[in-house]
Amino acid sequence: MAKKAKQRPESLMMSYGYKPELSEGAVKCPIFQTSTFVFKTAEEGKSFFEVAYGKRHLKPKEEVGLIYSRINNPDLEILEDRLCLWDEAEDGAVFESGMAAISTMVLELLKPGDLLLHSEPLYGGTDHFFKQVLLKYGIHSIGFMPNQTKAEIMQRVESTGKADKLAMIFIESPANPTNDLIDMKLCVALAKHYSTTNKKVITAIDNTFLGPVFSHPLKHGFDLVVYSATKYIGGHSDVIAGACVGSKELMRRVKSFRSIMGTMASPNTGWLLMRSLETLKMRMTLQAQNAEKIAKWLSKHPKVEKVYYLGLLKKGHPQYRIYKQQCLSPGAMISFDVKGGERQAFKVLNALKLIKLAVSLGSTESLAEHPYSMTHTPVNDDLKKKMNLTEKMIRLSVGVEYYQDIIDDIEQALSKI
Ligand SMILES: *Cc1c(COP(=O)(O)O)cnc(C)c1O
Repeated sequence: MAKKAKQRPESLMMSYGYKPELSEGAVKCPIFQTSTFVFKTAEEGKSFFEVAYGKRHLKPKEEVGLIYSRINNPDLEILEDRLCLWDEAEDGAVFESGMAAISTMVLELLKPGDLLLHSEPLYGGTDHFFKQVLLKYGIHSIGFMPNQTKAEIMQRVESTGKADKLAMIFIESPANPTNDLIDMKLCVALAKHYSTTNKKVITAIDNTFLGPVFSHPLKHGFDLVVYSATKYIGGHSDVIAGACVGSKELMRRVKSFRSIMGTMASPNTGWLLMRSLETLKMRMTLQAQNAEKIAKWLSKHPKVEKVYYLGLLKKGHPQYRIYKQQCLSPGAMISFDVKGGERQAFKVLNALKLIKLAVSLGSTESLAEHPYSMTHTPVNDDLKKKMNLTEKMIRLSVGVEYYQDIIDDIEQALSKI
């Protein structure tokens, strides 16, 4: 359980929650590559299980006993404590993928007949899970667009005839790949509006793009935050992982269900993520600095029609207020339209050398892709049009390389069209 720490998270990522004396004095937390743990006595085993199955609460100063690595493991517990520091969350859970985090959290908290309200567009896997998989279990979902007003969204909810069944509001902000922001305050107000004495509408956000360094949704009243830790948290394109953080009460449910579904991360994944967290702040800070220079340069390039980047929002733009309210930095995701269409975009992508042509994001190396025909293939054409997602768009995840080298690479690629 994360205790309130006075020092900054980046200062604590190397040591927090780990006791060297329990591991032969090792400075670094070892990989506890074990499936099961030895009980000192049968009585101890019995008492650990009582806590694990909620038959009794922890006594003061008592720690949760280690039982079996599907239920708990030191690498995961220490990692979860550290992850909580960034969002100042009461508790957290790590998973073997972002999708495992999202699906486990949603399945635990929703039941047949419930309605789920979500922002559009969604990450492809989440989109499929909400619109196809949940439907099989009698859970309906309805989407809203980034610039819709509270009244318009409420009208969408009412139009389903299931407004009284609204159980969760799930958003992605900034939206992928257009960097449109969703107003967290508005979502919290909507949740309050549809909550009753017997039913609290839960607010959850996929904070993969800006979190956990540049966006802290719990402070804006959100209940749960999920991550694809494959992206910035992992940060090296070498691990698939996910996370969910929030209140003790909700996380107790999510963690119990994780034990049943078996969607927890492995000890090795936990260890890799702990290593990644040590450099999280400096990686994201440098990536954001690079992105700012690159976006400004792109916005002046004659072969670039439009740049989608939070740092270019002007005062007076409807999104500017939301940006100031809930983001600490524009982050390092840039999309841009080249002049032309698919042919020109492909030419640029094929000519990139330093920047790799691949999906995924948030890693040390810069990556570029074509959302229209790659990550956003399943999104229907109508929605794509509404979102400004066209064939001329390229999405760039800015890495930690020297910014001028990234610019030079894009420059030579743009010269091919
Ligand atoms: C990648 C991603 C996911 C899915 O995460 P995995 O780790 O690939 O399962 C979910 N949401 C967003 C925003 C993502 O970028």
